Amino acid sequence: MASYDVIIIGGGPGGYVCAIRCAQLGLKTACVEGRETLGGTCLNVGCIPSKALLHASHQLHEAEHNFEKMGLSAGKVKVDWKQMLAYKDDVIGQNTKGIEFLFKKNKVDWLKGWGSIPEAGKVKVGDEIHEAKAIVIASGSEPSPVPGADVTVDEKVVVTSTGALALPKVPKRMVVIGAGVIGLEMGSVYARLGAEVEVIEFLDAITPGMDSEVQKTFQRILSKQGLKFTMGAAVQKVETKGGKATVTYKLRKDDSEHTTEADVVLCATGRRPYTDGLGLEGVGVELTERGQVKTDDHWQTTAKGIYAIGDAIEGPMLAHKAEDEGMAVAEVIAGKHGHVNYGVIPGVIYTAPEVASVGKTEDQLKKDGVAYKVGKFSFMGNGRAKAVFQGEGFVKLLADKETDRVLGCHIIGPGAGDLIHEICVGMEFGASAEDIALTCHAHPTFSEAVREAALACGDGAIHA
Ligand code: FAD
Repeated sequence: MASYDVIIIGGGPGGYVCAIRCAQLGLKTACVEGRETLGGTCLNVGCIPSKALLHASHQLHEAEHNFEKMGLSAGKVKVDWKQMLAYKDDVIGQNTKGIEFLFKKNKVDWLKGWGSIPEAGKVKVGDEIHEAKAIVIASGSEPSPVPGADVTVDEKVVVTSTGALALPKVPKRMVVIGAGVIGLEMGSVYARLGAEVEVIEFLDAITPGMDSEVQKTFQRILSKQGLKFTMGAAVQKVETKGGKATVTYKLRKDDSEHTTEADVVLCATGRRPYTDGLGLEGVGVELTERGQVKTDDHWQTTAKGIYAIGDAIEGPMLAHKAEDEGMAVAEVIAGKHGHVNYGVIPGVIYTAPEVASVGKTEDQLKKDGVAYKVGKFSFMGNGRAKAVFQGEGFVKLLADKETDRVLGCHIIGPGAGDLIHEICVGMEFGASAEDIALTCHAHPTFSEAVREAALACGDGAIHA
């Protein structure tokens, strides 16, 4: 038995970041991880592998659609799917090994195996029981089943995102159930690789919760890229036979039943917290109705000395949200002040173009009765975007009508996932749209579009 100041259960972005920060703050720290490699969903079967495939397939798109325009000809680019998967696996390996290195560097013990909490202050891993003054649950999430439908995932024909990241071949036809971030990113990958992709979505708009103008533009652009959308449709069942699937759905507008065939069906209707086998009930850790671990403002659960962070608790299921909570709870455990500003957590979709948002949407501001102004700028007016064939999309900045304080920003366009951070920093500092408008932005960069949107909140954009 070993004794620790902190034991973290789960080595994903929430858990590993928490472990490193705890060690940096002088706490004797261990992290329990049951997978063969560290990094959790994010590094193994989430953010990183999906971005590798998005990158590779985007290069193919560039070669097929834009190379010739720039005077580059190399004949038809062929897809070596096995090699693409090997590249993705190599990227995963480099990243997961990197966390192992950081654990060693920071003297965090990796307790290999599945952990549980047999009693307060104790963590069991395999046959060993370890003592801990504080325990952090960072056990993450798992794919949710398709609600109200008869669907059995076999990770061959009917897959979750995990299966979709390692298909034996590029399917001819793919049906994606759910037009959320994961469904659209993976749908984009396979559409670019030549699959016919149909996205079936229950709601009438893609990417729920996002700015409605961005939703419409995004759906239009993806449709132009070849994704087919069947909206307002409730999937009833998926049947498989001879390596093929038949998806049955009902259109909500008239209750009519339809079927569609696919070689692969990707279930992407969301994720749910994963807390199996932790023994939470026995130590008084309560869950919400949605299965999330209940926490207070300091990430303490209903059991003293046991904390929880990341996908296992309430809030957006995002790696950076988990990381921020990991750092903050480490500070709390070390007797300092940990803080996460949940009002400034960016969300990014890594398609081409990228989509990014932070803060309030217009719909939310209207609902809250906040008087606001909108500064919008199209990437068509951005020289750099046009030079790289990415003039589609816009930056929309929302600012308080009276004070000019930035309340939110929604971007669809090149580099959106990086551009949004200028606004995040601005919002953290309570910036006004004018502060951004008066900041010199290098030319020619995509970021000039952000400045122009800020100018549009005042006397007007220059290149509009
Ligand atoms: P996880 O990363 O899920 O890690 C939890 C870890 O705990 C797992 O490794 C698990 O094995 C381990 N564990 C669980 N129980 C135990 C136990 N009892 N004992 C030992 N170990 C245990 N987010 C983004 O921000 N950006 C993206 O681009 C993005 N892309 C994504 C793409 C896909 C396909 C998917 C599926 C997710 C994506 N996400 C993305 C979401 C992101 O992966 C999660 O929000 C993030 O990983 C949550 O971190 P976490 O530490 O809370 O949990």
